[in-house]
Amino acid sequence: MVSDEQLVRMLAQPREKRDIERARQIFVNRNLRLSRVDTIGFDMDYTLAIYHQRRLEQLSFDMTVAKLINHFKYPERINTIKYDHQFVMRGLFVDRKHGNLIKIDRFGFVGRGYHGRRPLTEEVMQKLYRNERIRLKNPEYAWIDTLFALPEACLFADIIELFEKEGTEVNYGKLYDDIREAIDTVHRDNTLKAEIRQDIGRYIFKDPELGPALHRLRSGGKKLFVLTNSLWDYTDAVMSYLLDGVLPEYPVWRNYFDIVVTGASKPDFFAAGKPFLEIDSTNGDNRVIGEATTLERGKVYQGGNLSAFEKMTGSVGDHVLYVGDHIYGDILKSKKSTMWRTCMIVQEIEDEISYTDTRIEEITRLSEVEVLRARIDDEISTHKALLNAVERKLEREHVEGEQRKMHEDERKRLKVELDTLRKALKECTDVADTLEIDVERGFNPYWGLMFKEGNENSRFGEQVEQYACLYTSRVSNFLQYSPMQYFRSPRDLMAHERAGALSGRLSPLGSEGPPKGTNRAE
Ligand code: IMP
Ligand code: MG
Repeated sequence: MVSDEQLVRMLAQPREKRDIERARQIFVNRNLRLSRVDTIGFDMDYTLAIYHQRRLEQLSFDMTVAKLINHFKYPERINTIKYDHQFVMRGLFVDRKHGNLIKIDRFGFVGRGYHGRRPLTEEVMQKLYRNERIRLKNPEYAWIDTLFALPEACLFADIIELFEKEGTEVNYGKLYDDIREAIDTVHRDNTLKAEIRQDIGRYIFKDPELGPALHRLRSGGKKLFVLTNSLWDYTDAVMSYLLDGVLPEYPVWRNYFDIVVTGASKPDFFAAGKPFLEIDSTNGDNRVIGEATTLERGKVYQGGNLSAFEKMTGSVGDHVLYVGDHIYGDILKSKKSTMWRTCMIVQEIEDEISYTDTRIEEITRLSEVEVLRARIDDEISTHKALLNAVERKLEREHVEGEQRKMHEDERKRLKVELDTLRKALKECTDVADTLEIDVERGFNPYWGLMFKEGNENSRFGEQVEQYACLYTSRVSNFLQYSPMQYFRSPRDLMAHERAGALSGRLSPLGSEGPPKGTNRAE
């Protein structure tokens, strides 16, 4: 056992640590020791490959409109609709029955919504959404849970707006299904991918730190694999663009990875028992050579399933970390059906953090005003109870003379104070509302912050917190962390612990605990 003095001296020594800017940190929901992880898997699209979001969305929007006109016989004039990237964000819900786009908080409470381009009034919200919670499983709602789905939500709202302005009745469910099918076809028949491949640099951001980050993990003894829903030909084109020749030790991208699985059909990969097929990787025709009984470095596979993967690789349970961007197909489904640890890539974080950093004064002021508002609210309740008691005394009891006068003075004083408190509450509420609207609109004029809805976490934020052990804006952020990093989550306190004396002892930074990122590289 080291002596106290020795320990103090060791801890006091400066260590080589660098601060990592918040937007590029890895945030921790559940403790994770990277030293325990021996295998790290990566999804490709929107994970290893970061798309130029606007350009890709515009392309799939234009192609979907063209499909709707040419194959679904929608009128030519839907061509006039312009894609508005601000009108949609990840985590929204499409209400297929009523033709609305809505944003909900973690309790399923609808905070705001639009019908076409018109905001839903409080009356409509009351009628449609205040009697029951929105549940993910309800087929009346479609969840916009991947970045690939943003164009369809925008198109849905804009076609409704266009048609209803002209007085044309819209079958909302059919409209949504048509759009879904059109965009699905654009993905499946390769028209979208062919266009991307023609000018790959226009659509995909080549992150110079990606190769070094993967190299650092490999040097730390991790096996790496790719598990993507894209087929081999497209995977090869994208990955070559991202990684070929980046580091001399890895002339071609496949050198970084021990196993490559394409066409994985996630989320089914995590449940169904599809076999692994070996693919001829010498050309781009995705030709199947035969069923695979082993998974070998240097070969390429298609399909497969979790149980066979674990058997063939020996990488199981919490020794595997899977990194993906799709909250349902990559994160939620793997978390529910495996013990794999998960890291979610949320590229929007960089914008959201950069923005909130510029508004830190207003956000701090908003928190202060909210604390004050709660204090005043409590004081009003206390005053009301006191006033009630005095009034009961004056009404029911035979109080005469001096005593009566004393109670009457008391009543007068309480009423004046209550009046002042009510005015202060109104002022606080007005200030808080104005600040909140201002901060939220500055980020997105229609929907506010992606992780928040009102004072609560949005449904999307809640799902990230619940299912992703880690989350970060891009894969290359791992470069700043040791392959042995212990990602520590702030200790979660229950409400009774936060309010009690325990909180100071359990959490070194007080009831709030440390920030969720591990902002130092070790
Ligand atoms: P991953 O993220 O690497 O697993 O791959 C996502 C794949 O799903 C890409 O090849 C996309 O083109 C494809 N994809 C995304 N949205 C749709 C869709 O709506 N229908 C069919 N394929 C899709
Ligand atoms: Mg993906």
